[in-house]
Amino acid sequence: MNRRQFIKLAGISTVLGVGGISAIDKLKGNVVEAARDGMTDSEFPIPLSAKRWAMVVDIGKFKTDEDYQKCVDACHSIHNVPDFGNKKDEVKWIWKDTYEHAFPTQVNQYIPAGIKEKPLLLLCNHCENPPCVRVCPTQATFKRKDGIVMQDMHRCIGCRFCMAACPFGARSFNWRDPRPFIKKENPEYPTRTIGVVEKCTFCFERLVKGLQPACVEASGGALVFGDLSDPNSEVRKILSTRYSIRRKQELGTQPGVYYLIGGNENA
Ligand code: SF4
Repeated sequence: MNRRQFIKLAGISTVLGVGGISAIDKLKGNVVEAARDGMTDSEFPIPLSAKRWAMVVDIGKFKTDEDYQKCVDACHSIHNVPDFGNKKDEVKWIWKDTYEHAFPTQVNQYIPAGIKEKPLLLLCNHCENPPCVRVCPTQATFKRKDGIVMQDMHRCIGCRFCMAACPFGARSFNWRDPRPFIKKENPEYPTRTIGVVEKCTFCFERLVKGLQPACVEASGGALVFGDLSDPNSEVRKILSTRYSIRRKQELGTQPGVYYLIGGNENA
């Protein structure tokens, strides 16, 4: 690793390594500097920002296995997510599951097969009221002002309280050393160690470079990401015209990931 790569990685690691919303604000400058990677002001893209980031999943636009896999691969490859090759040790940031697992309280025998049998892409919901944050004893997980629920893999002590608290199964524990199981390591993103929890962070490291989350970019329009507080944002426009549901709303965590149901899932 050369000096430039090291400085870049250190910037991202610093953010992952410090808990607390105010600390993140102070460190925003470090992340931007790290992401700049020697670029001048005019070369450096404007970071994406929002008051409340949210994602919309248009389930009708996922038609083949490849449509799902493209999103999973894009995320897991850039974030050095290991592939242990078995369910027991599985580490996942974004994954495919059945409608019945995703929405257990919204199933009845008369739901159209086109919806009921359709797999969905699941990920951390970046909840407005995240129970994972409340139970973490070390502030390894914390919520930013823009709604992103971060996971600091360096501060994590592996107690797994957050995994017990998350009702969505959005967190994974490294039961084994993940490094030998990374298919092709991305030197620009930190790897993890045995005994820590990890999850999706809405690609905070890409937002600072003006890039959309990797899964969104790979989805070809099936995933839409934007500012929920902005009435002119794409996500708001979609949510005001299409019917959407969120996972386990009855629990009150206020998920930031919305699923479009109806309209064109059979198209
Ligand atoms: Fe936390 Fe789970 Fe909500 Fe993500 S989905 S913010 S891990 S409670």
